[in-house]
Amino acid sequence: DKIQALLRDESDISKISYKTFLENLEPIRVQDNTIIIKTDDEIGRDYIERKYSKSIIIAIREIVGEIYNIKFMLPSEIAKEKKKVSNKKIPTNNNNEYNGLNSRYTFDTFVVGNNNKLAHAAALAVAESPAEAYNPLFIYGGVGLGKTHLMHSIAHFILSENSESKVLYVSSEKFTNELIKSIRDDKNEEFRQKYRNIDVLLVDDIQFIAGKERTQEEFFHTFNTLYEAKKQIIISSDRPPKEIETLEERLRSRFEWGLIADIQPPDFETRMAILQKRAEMEHLNLPNDVIQYVATNIKSNIRELEGGINKIIAYSTLVHKDLTKELAEDALKDLITPEKDKEITPQFILEIVAEHYNINPADIVSKKRPREIAYPRQIVMYLSRTLTDLSLPKIGQILGKRDHTTIIHGYEKISKDIQKDSAFKNTIEILTKKITGK
Ligand code: ADP
Ligand code: MG
Repeated sequence: DKIQALLRDESDISKISYKTFLENLEPIRVQDNTIIIKTDDEIGRDYIERKYSKSIIIAIREIVGEIYNIKFMLPSEIAKEKKKVSNKKIPTNNNNEYNGLNSRYTFDTFVVGNNNKLAHAAALAVAESPAEAYNPLFIYGGVGLGKTHLMHSIAHFILSENSESKVLYVSSEKFTNELIKSIRDDKNEEFRQKYRNIDVLLVDDIQFIAGKERTQEEFFHTFNTLYEAKKQIIISSDRPPKEIETLEERLRSRFEWGLIADIQPPDFETRMAILQKRAEMEHLNLPNDVIQYVATNIKSNIRELEGGINKIIAYSTLVHKDLTKELAEDALKDLITPEKDKEITPQFILEIVAEHYNINPADIVSKKRPREIAYPRQIVMYLSRTLTDLSLPKIGQILGKRDHTTIIHGYEKISKDIQKDSAFKNTIEILTKKITGK
């Protein structure tokens, strides 16, 4: 069912095609790594096989977390061989990508320091006794300081204690976009069912609903329903509730009902510990003076700290040299230049967009054509044009030596999509906020 929902709602397949061809498909069983799917007739089968196999495989991977082949069979064929086969169930894994959780983000891999002690303790308390310790738990802190990591840790913990528990993790962007779609498709009831019938709701980066009245309204009711039913709510933000401008007063005050815990930038010892833990986890052989060099020079943000290490390793492989402090200095010279105001560059835009879509930044400048890459690439073109003063040829140059007409094309495509689709417009707004920091 989840796979059906994904094909219906999130793929490129039109509603009519979905209804005609895919709605009646029925998974029968798993044989080795092939899922047998029942189709009604032969003509339909050939068409589906040709046209939708790939989408179905991708949807299965999203839900189950693994790649399965698929094989279509007619009812008659299935009946024929029915006696022979043992009935193996299709695995459904609660603990994987479908619920949006990163398996690396657990309490085990979270390093506790002075900067995050309170938030960590509160998160653990909530994970151990949901809806009893603090409700809601509101975690705030700057970018890359571990809010998302802590939230996923709570979700993993609760699911590991009780796999039946209904835990829902969403970004506030996803919440907003699903709300928009539910209104557009007249499926508000479904939306409510989804968000109100759960045990634990985690909403990441709530600051992005500021100023969005309809979303705040809906979230307010979601909050109340869950709270009254004694369900746990966990919220994160880049700032405390009282500093989120244009947040409705009634939401603000609710956010303050439970516990508000902050995460500060890590001190030197914590930075060292985080890097050592990372090196250990990934079996990296990093000399101590290299770790120390990075921990001394990158201060503000753990994501950049980890980025620094990755850069050094990449550089060392590239130039075939050992990992030494000298090499580290060389590798990081762009990163560590004296502090200046962060200028918005296409490079920076590219990094934010790549992170948002969970793709490799290098793919964006590459020649790769699949939509998962080509579309974010066009978003980078659009944002580079709207957020920097650079000329089109210059932007094209930076984004993998592309022609200025390619950039205009990307810009126009995205502009059009923004007008057509308000959920997408919301995503672009959020990306813009992430980039400009406003
Ligand atoms: P935020 O959501 O606050 O922007 P994230 O949770 O995405 O930050 O963290 C950014 C990166 O830093 C992630 O890779 C995360 O695993 C890592 N990280 C953050 N805090 C810690 C910590 N205390 N221990 C280990 N890794 C951390
Ligand atoms: Mg985050």
